[in-house]
Amino acid sequence: MKPEVLLSRIRVVLCRPSHPGNIGAVARAMKTMGLSSLYLVDPKQFPDPEADTRATGAVDVLERAKLKSSLKDALAGTVFAVALSARQRDIGPTLGAPRETVARLLAEAGEGEVALVFGNETVGLSNDEILHCQAAVAIPTNPEFSSLNLGSAVQVLCYECRMAAFAERPPVVAQGVTPSTSPVARHDEVEGLYAHFEAVMTDTGFFNPEQPGRLLPKLRRLFGRTRLERDEVNILRGILASTQVKTGHGRKN
Ligand code: SAH
Repeated sequence: MKPEVLLSRIRVVLCRPSHPGNIGAVARAMKTMGLSSLYLVDPKQFPDPEADTRATGAVDVLERAKLKSSLKDALAGTVFAVALSARQRDIGPTLGAPRETVARLLAEAGEGEVALVFGNETVGLSNDEILHCQAAVAIPTNPEFSSLNLGSAVQVLCYECRMAAFAERPPVVAQGVTPSTSPVARHDEVEGLYAHFEAVMTDTGFFNPEQPGRLLPKLRRLFGRTRLERDEVNILRGILASTQVKTGHGRKN
């Protein structure tokens, strides 16, 4: 696949950005590296003249930006998403290095759309947002001052994407990315599986929505590690549906 096509399949997703100037800087960072697909989840202020000013010649990226109300909507249709965070969370994918993770991202881009997910300038990504991603990356920094400006963080990742896409050898096929007969499950299909699990576990009494604990985040983390295929999601949902039949479609008798 041509490097330009691989780069066009990478969505840059900004979660709840506060400063329109940063959105403009992100558009510029993307366009200089050949990326163009910008998704904005609930931006505080957009469109805005400050965003246009900071984008300079990348206003076209802003004009084509897609506005979404949740990260779930922004990731619909993707086959792989990477969260950007300076801090390891106690639950969520283990933080990896940009170069290795971008190699995996480009390998997955051969299969469909993929995403780099960035957090809000003040609070970063929420734990819930991180659990929508299958991998996480920290940009190595001075440990005493580890938080980059949003536009700078996007620039570093877009640069790595360009270097990997145009490397002479094809993107390294990461471990676990083996050819298979079934396509990789898309984000919305995996979300459907989680919702199905939650419904069945609630019906059987295994999960108590009043006292949710960490069961749902742990399931997300488990499946986030496995790179589910569409066939596998269908099998798991078939198993869940069969238990619903047994229990009278989930109704309590
Ligand atoms: N104060 C926030 C950081 C906000 S910076 C916090 O403590 O989480 C805005 C976004 O840029 C972050 O959510 C993250 O997506 C990205 N970012 C900044 N520095 C980073 C780093 N060293 N590694 C990975 N992502 C980083």
